[in-house]
Amino acid sequence: MHEKCGVVGISLRDRDAARPLYYSLYALQHRGQESTGIVTHDGFQQHSHVEMGLVSEAFEEGDLEPLNGSNGIGHVRYPTSGGVNNCCAQPFSVSFKSGSLGLAHNGNLVNTKAVRDELAGLGHAFTSEGDTEVIAHDLARNLLEADLVRAVKRTMNRIHGSYSLTVMHDETVMGVRDPKGNRPLCIGELEDGYVLASESAAVDTLDGGIVRDVRPGELVVLDPNGTGFESYQLVDAETTAHCFFEHIYFARPDSIIDGELVYEVRRELGRSLWEESGIETDVVMPVPDSGRSFASGYAEAANEAQRVSESASGVEFAEGLMKNRYVGRTFIMPTQDERERAVRLKLNPIRSTVEGRTVTIIDDSIVRGTTSTQLVELLHEAGAEEVHVRIGAPPIVAPCYMGIDMASREELIAADRSVAEIRDEIKADSLSYLSIEAIAGALGRTETDLCLGCVTGEYPYDIEGERTDREVTRPTGQPSGADD
Ligand code: 5GP
Ligand code: MG
Repeated sequence: MHEKCGVVGISLRDRDAARPLYYSLYALQHRGQESTGIVTHDGFQQHSHVEMGLVSEAFEEGDLEPLNGSNGIGHVRYPTSGGVNNCCAQPFSVSFKSGSLGLAHNGNLVNTKAVRDELAGLGHAFTSEGDTEVIAHDLARNLLEADLVRAVKRTMNRIHGSYSLTVMHDETVMGVRDPKGNRPLCIGELEDGYVLASESAAVDTLDGGIVRDVRPGELVVLDPNGTGFESYQLVDAETTAHCFFEHIYFARPDSIIDGELVYEVRRELGRSLWEESGIETDVVMPVPDSGRSFASGYAEAANEAQRVSESASGVEFAEGLMKNRYVGRTFIMPTQDERERAVRLKLNPIRSTVEGRTVTIIDDSIVRGTTSTQLVELLHEAGAEEVHVRIGAPPIVAPCYMGIDMASREELIAADRSVAEIRDEIKADSLSYLSIEAIAGALGRTETDLCLGCVTGEYPYDIEGERTDREVTRPTGQPSGADD
């Protein structure tokens, strides 16, 4: 239900960028499994390979060879509902009068139609409904009239919404993060060059060091010779709107996002979950893999509390649910029946860890309720006396508009149900979610610096038919080029 593509950009001193781009895409695979691609530039022309499927499927050994050049960008795309979507595989590339442009986008614009209509009126022809093409055309147009930095600034003032981009203009690779910093993007340094990537885990994979996060509203231009980068703070917003769900679910636990190690945040949230709604239990179990870090924090806090009260034996932490790692993407299966079957395929309880016992399962989030409904039933069938469910996020009550694979309100189990009603629906003995305050606390930010749209129904952007939680600056009325 949320947009979570992955982007990368690399400039190296004198080695082809294709292979390190390929490895980075592997490191970002969790952010998108529908399609992937690499576009490089060799100083004269672009080379590109963009395919449907996982990185391992889309690239065969010979495919990297023709991708010449020490500069390039890459993308992994998150699947949309209803399956394959050939139209929107990225990076998107165009050539125009003043050169070539490649673009990889994570995020979602909220004023795509307005910008597309205006550009179409000026004679731009579009091949997709996508917002990425709109950004590419707007930028190409601005590049005809202005230098790189001004052109990017004009585009940033025109487009509204969520975007972390890696862009390649001829052989110059850049990173751009929207003024509210909704999606992550960081800068890394290699022995012989620089990297821009959605998550720092990609930089680690290349044996690089993290320099810092790209700042909200910042343009980072890599030197095409891999010797450094320049920074331009182009747009300032009063508040940020960092997606809290990156820290809950999307990002890898080993990534550092906006200065916070995801693993530690999840463990701390697990501790808060115990403090807010801990319940006596024989065994604590994560729902793999997304519930793991939460469950370890929860169990740790539970045992500390028991030690203090000098009560009996302590809580066991068990990996009592086995995950079949070859079943992926249950979430995007088109029908509810298939999704239920897929959960059964994916997860199997270890009977001896649950039989005759009180079990607490910990997951990161409940969306439609498929996973928790199925698991509670399975655990009861496996002989659990009681099954308690603890969730490391608040109830998801509204869709994500920074996204594409939109679970609509009707699909969200919490959209029109109280927590007690959800507990009855999933047949758990008890159910508790985490508070919004705990999340803001663990991230060390105020709620007004986070995008909490899916858990409050109030968005940091101006979205038709929805409430906003703040004063929204709206650049949509401005003619392009007004704000140089
Ligand atoms: P549910 O089964 O309630 O519909 O979904 C909850 C499960 O889906 C959780 O285990 C959570 O880790 C996972 N999940 C939450 N958000 C997303 C998402 O946007 N995409 C995918 N693929 N899984 C998600
Ligand atoms: Mg999960």
